Amino acid sequence: MKFGGSSVANGKKIRHVANLIADNSSSECAVVAVVSALEGITNQLIHAAEEAKKGKHEHVRKFKQEILERHLVTAKDAIKNSQIEEEAEQTLRERIDELEQVLTGIGYVGELTPKSRDTVIAFGEKLSAPIVSGALKDLGRKSVHLTGGEAGIVTDNNFGEAGLLMNFTKFQVEKNLEPLLKSETIPVITGFIASTQNGETTTLGRGGSDYTATIIGAALEADEVWIWTDVDGLMTADPKIVQEAKTINELSFQEATELTIFGAKAMHPRALEPAKKEGIPVRIRNVFSPNNPGTLITKGQKAETVNGVKAVTLVRNVAVITVSGAGMVGAPGTAAKVFEVLGKENINILMISQSVSESNISLVIQRNLLERAVNTLEIALLGRDYIREIMPEDDVCVVAVLGAGMKGMPGVASRIFSAVAKKGINVRMIAQGSSELNVSFVVKEKNGDETVRAIHKEFNLAPKGNPSSRVF
Ligand code: ASP
Ligand code: MG
Repeated sequence: MKFGGSSVANGKKIRHVANLIADNSSSECAVVAVVSALEGITNQLIHAAEEAKKGKHEHVRKFKQEILERHLVTAKDAIKNSQIEEEAEQTLRERIDELEQVLTGIGYVGELTPKSRDTVIAFGEKLSAPIVSGALKDLGRKSVHLTGGEAGIVTDNNFGEAGLLMNFTKFQVEKNLEPLLKSETIPVITGFIASTQNGETTTLGRGGSDYTATIIGAALEADEVWIWTDVDGLMTADPKIVQEAKTINELSFQEATELTIFGAKAMHPRALEPAKKEGIPVRIRNVFSPNNPGTLITKGQKAETVNGVKAVTLVRNVAVITVSGAGMVGAPGTAAKVFEVLGKENINILMISQSVSESNISLVIQRNLLERAVNTLEIALLGRDYIREIMPEDDVCVVAVLGAGMKGMPGVASRIFSAVAKKGINVRMIAQGSSELNVSFVVKEKNGDETVRAIHKEFNLAPKGNPSSRVF
């Protein structure tokens, strides 16, 4: 079971979380808990590291006091037994002293490397796990807290976004956790952080606690991985855009991966990999509404809808670049050149389309990279006679329509585009992956919300009599 930052934001919430863990664990059913940092702490640590680098020792001292206070208050509210509370408090004080030393060191050197940054931001989870573990002991359960590295998660040394070494990890996690589970001790593991083979602290990328949970689940061959969060699950659309949007009961791994890639921010995009590989079902559940079954992600592709479409999402803050020139027709290597130039600049391409006429290629990228992308392309390509124009557009958004049931079902695309056309909205660019799991297209930004609503309605994604179970 993984609990995100908003679920462990304060002592009262941590008590609630500890109760959920205790209620679901028994001698028949062992539970491993994975926790995020208290809400907001990771961002504060990043900020503190940057201030430290500028030599702002005063800020570091103030920050130390604030973070200490917040965690001590949280521990006090979460743990009633004074002996258990004191034990947690001592761990918190020791770790926060250590954090201060790291920040001070960064201040003196004046340098923040990816490695020292990881050391700093790992403290968020290193401070939340002892409190959650203490709260479980307070409920009369046996519990220990472990860092990701202590649990056995091993990565390469790509600090900030470390790559998992799964075989070694599996071996270590089994060895470290199974004896605990056998003795009915509940391990509380820091999400997000891991370790290299040399014991250096690494992190798995922002939001990485989900990934920690599925790594541990896969290593232990768990029956299920539960991601407890503050929403009911993955939804048919963003409820801020479509009021009647509802929770999706069941999705395949492939569908869920597409959804998370297309911005349903309920989960870390890499988090599904380990579970998918081992075929372990992942359930997304709401801590504040634990009776709700949430969204189940499984190996099967239960076509829950009659019309193939399960969700529609909107990706904002993107831009389109169109590279054109009659000379591109029948000139092999043009697309390769465009991709190579952008790849070298570390600019990720989200969507591609080229017409059969070959006279232009359109790409979608993150909007904040637009200027750099256009400059690089101009320098690299414009001198060549086959490319005539590089045209940027920054007032656009991507609408992605998702669902495995769309595969091999004729007429879905026509329904999508007629629904959009009926609203008088112009479609600028279209792409369908040959997996047929999604159709993505570009419209003007001002039409984004209306397009999403039109498609949600066309495919009746929130049928009446099956009300939304959302709790907000
Ligand atoms: N605390 C980390 C973050 O905010 C990891 C997580 O919450 O999953 O990114
Ligand atoms: Mg988080």
